[in-house]
Amino acid sequence: MPSASENHGGCLCGAIRYRVTTPPMRVSFCHCRFCQKVTGTAYAVEPIFEESAFELLQGTPKSHDHVSEGSGKVITLHFCPDCGSPIRYTFERFAGVTGVMAGSFDDPNWFGWTEESAKHIFLSAARPETMIPTGLPVFVQHATTPDGAPLEPLSLERPTAVRDLNLSG
Ligand SMILES: [Zn+2]
Ligand SMILES: [Zn+2]
Repeated sequence: MPSASENHGGCLCGAIRYRVTTPPMRVSFCHCRFCQKVTGTAYAVEPIFEESAFELLQGTPKSHDHVSEGSGKVITLHFCPDCGSPIRYTFERFAGVTGVMAGSFDDPNWFGWTEESAKHIFLSAARPETMIPTGLPVFVQHATTPDGAPLEPLSLERPTAVRDLNLSG
């Protein structure tokens, strides 16, 4: 379990401060274009919590609603209005949970994950040079169908660059 300080986080300028009160339920490494735009880089590392586990301690985030090209559902980005740092997502499709930007935590490595609780998703949009490790499920897009049925992950025998993955499989 996290100590009092390691599950705290905030934006770059310090106006926004928050904490979470539980470890994450699961962790997504998301390579989709939306996460690339939000983070300005290759992919988002996104621990997922019950929305009730997220407590805003200071400041008032601004939010932006984006309609997902895939699902047609709204993803809301919450970010600092002063420095622009992304803090977290909430989802129309997954009501009651929130995805927090791992890098916004004071200690971005405080939480653990396992092969069962973590996954790489949206490899279809990933940068070709990104290396995908073994030991985690890998999905071409979402891990489930729009109805929530599980999809079969790819399995890697060795760490593999995205350009060498067989994404049609
Ligand atoms: Zn800020
Ligand atoms: Zn994404």
